[in-house]
Amino acid sequence: MVEEKVKSIIDYLSHSVADNFTDSICLSLAKAIQADIVFIASLDEGANIASTISVASEGNIENNFSYELKHTPCENVSLGDVCTHKTSCQQTYPKDQLLTDMNIEGYVGVPLKTDNGNTDAILVALYHEDIENVKETTSLFLLFSGMIKKEMEKQAIFNELTIRNKIIEVSKEAIVICDQNEKIISVNKAFTDILGYSFREVEGKNPKIFASGEHSKVFYQTMWKEINETGAWSGEILNKKKSGEVFPEWLSINTICDADNKVTNYVAYFFDISQSKAAESKIYQQANYDLLTGIANRFLFLETLSKSLHLIKSRQTSLAVLHMDLDLFKEINDIYGHDLGDKLLIESANRLKNHIKETDCIARISGDSFAILLNDLTDTDNVKLIVERILLTFSDPFVFDDVSLTCTLSIGITVCSGESESENESSILKNAESAMYHAKDSGRNSYSFFSQELQSIAQRKLLLKSQLGNAIEQNELSVVYQPIVSIGEQKVRKFEALVRWNNSGEWVSPDEFVAIAEEFSLIKPLGNFVLIQACIELKKLRAQGFNDIIINVNRSVFEIPLNKTENDQWLKTIVEYGLQPNDICFELTESALAPDKRNNEVLFNQLRNAGCTIALDDFGTGYSSLSYIRRIPIDFIKIDRAFISDMSKNKSDNILVSTIIVMSKALGKKVVAEGVETQEQLQLLTDLQCDFIQGYFFSKPLPPTQLVDYLNNFTYCK
Ligand code: C2E
Ligand code: CA
Ligand code: CA
Repeated sequence: MVEEKVKSIIDYLSHSVADNFTDSICLSLAKAIQADIVFIASLDEGANIASTISVASEGNIENNFSYELKHTPCENVSLGDVCTHKTSCQQTYPKDQLLTDMNIEGYVGVPLKTDNGNTDAILVALYHEDIENVKETTSLFLLFSGMIKKEMEKQAIFNELTIRNKIIEVSKEAIVICDQNEKIISVNKAFTDILGYSFREVEGKNPKIFASGEHSKVFYQTMWKEINETGAWSGEILNKKKSGEVFPEWLSINTICDADNKVTNYVAYFFDISQSKAAESKIYQQANYDLLTGIANRFLFLETLSKSLHLIKSRQTSLAVLHMDLDLFKEINDIYGHDLGDKLLIESANRLKNHIKETDCIARISGDSFAILLNDLTDTDNVKLIVERILLTFSDPFVFDDVSLTCTLSIGITVCSGESESENESSILKNAESAMYHAKDSGRNSYSFFSQELQSIAQRKLLLKSQLGNAIEQNELSVVYQPIVSIGEQKVRKFEALVRWNNSGEWVSPDEFVAIAEEFSLIKPLGNFVLIQACIELKKLRAQGFNDIIINVNRSVFEIPLNKTENDQWLKTIVEYGLQPNDICFELTESALAPDKRNNEVLFNQLRNAGCTIALDDFGTGYSSLSYIRRIPIDFIKIDRAFISDMSKNKSDNILVSTIIVMSKALGKKVVAEGVETQEQLQLLTDLQCDFIQGYFFSKPLPPTQLVDYLNNFTYCK
């Protein structure tokens, strides 16, 4: 009887159309033992809840369900015991609602145990009626429990493998599995996607076929040594795709060993890192190179310099750092626009590149500043030669479309032999920069070697620059007025307004701080301050009845507006303070006449038309050409005091002054002689028919409080 049932179950199983084993066994058992319901349930870890895996009832598979084990017959089974109830199950377990709901009387349950004897699932048969043969059912259940458990385990392993295979297949990482002879036995989809080979094309081959030829023999030897010793290797490697394209990949190789520790397989995982490599190199490029010119940036320059400093100590050679600044780049940028400014920087970098060796370094370290590191100098005289050659290349004009312009360089140089311990890359570059400022101060288009003295000059300059900004904002500047006397009328006709700065007790010379203001864009607020003060003082003089006094105000070429729309600002201030344009004379130096300053002519004409007068200051020191003087509307020419002071001693100066006076008169300009200190000079100038005299002979510049007294007590002859 039992044998027949076993046979029918096995028959059923072998012909079963159900998808999985547990469904089939439940169906076949239910049929064989004529149970109303047969189910298999797995137990949760604490064995509190059972969840069915397969439920068979009346020849069908039903929906799965979960239930609490407490107070049910299954509770005993879950503890590892066989539990049977031929009848009256509901009475025995009154709290088991499920039994009542399903109207169950007979119950057979057996535990499904793992190899180590734990119960993690149960097999249960339920009957609506009393069970005819409990023993038979139980023995059949016990007979099949082992098989069910084994099948369930097999299924679990199969499921896991399926998942693993799926993971391998969908992995973005390429996976290659080789046997112990390094022959490929499996690859995944990512492998084909990356390398372009199908599995068929590489099956049985050695992964050597992917070698790019870019690595040395030693590279592969080291790699295999590590795999053999540690069982794994990972690193960056260049491999070749089917298309022949060589690409970087991140490769990890692991070995799989059997129980005897013999390698059975090699598994390689890799992914294409060309994108991240490209991003990495872009980041490196951006962090170390100047985007505009493509040469190194300040960061890389300092890093290279630091390495070179270490080297020269051991090699007993020297190095030189050149700090270069394009002269008047800011002005060029303002006049011609940023696009041209950019082109000029690129072209300058190209010109500089021609002067360095491969072992040297060139960088753009800020706006219009470049630096060059000359390495391995055995003879420092070479530096001078190189620098002179660089200056020479910059004497050629730069030509961009229809613009041709000359842009010179100022170069500061530090040479170091690595002897001084205190020298570091930053201080060396700074020293070269100080020397560069010195070169600029001594007339641009030149070079200067760093010295301690230069350093203190540069340091003072930077200090004054920061203090001057505050001084202007906090009204720490003042203005003094120096009389200008008419020889013909023998009376004071003008005052020149001269700015003063008392920097916490120290009087800083205007020659020094005006130049700083010009260089660091502080000149406009400074100039506006002086003009306003001059207007205020002149207004006071007018109120006292001095109606024919004019005040001369110095304006730097850097204060001239770049475009016409701002031109009327100077006039506006004069009118705002209740004066007429002809009450003020503007003093400008010769650089304001340079032909590349396109707006100057327009501005001068505008000021002249409004009634202002213009004086050309420091005449003779610059590069005035007569043609400019003719073209630009100026009223006065002021002869620089350097010519006046030497007049009585130096014949040639005498002739020069006399020529300037004659020439000026011929052009219809009045002449002012500056720096007249002696009676003798006054006499000479009177003889030469100079028009005005300014200088200590008459008076030093006066504070505003003394002007009225000075005018009231003025006598021409002392
Ligand atoms: P500058 O325009 O040539 O001014 C004349 C300078 O000569 C003044 O020097 C004045 O004090 C000095 N001086 C006048 N008479 C004599 C003399 O008989 N002997 C000697 N040895 N010197 C005499 P200061 O005030 O030191 O100004 C120097 C320069 O600073 C000025 O030269 C001018 O270029 C600049 N500066 C002064 N104030 C201003 C200003 O408000 N704006 C601008 N842009 N520059 C100014
Ligand atoms: Ca002046
Ligand atoms: Ca002057």
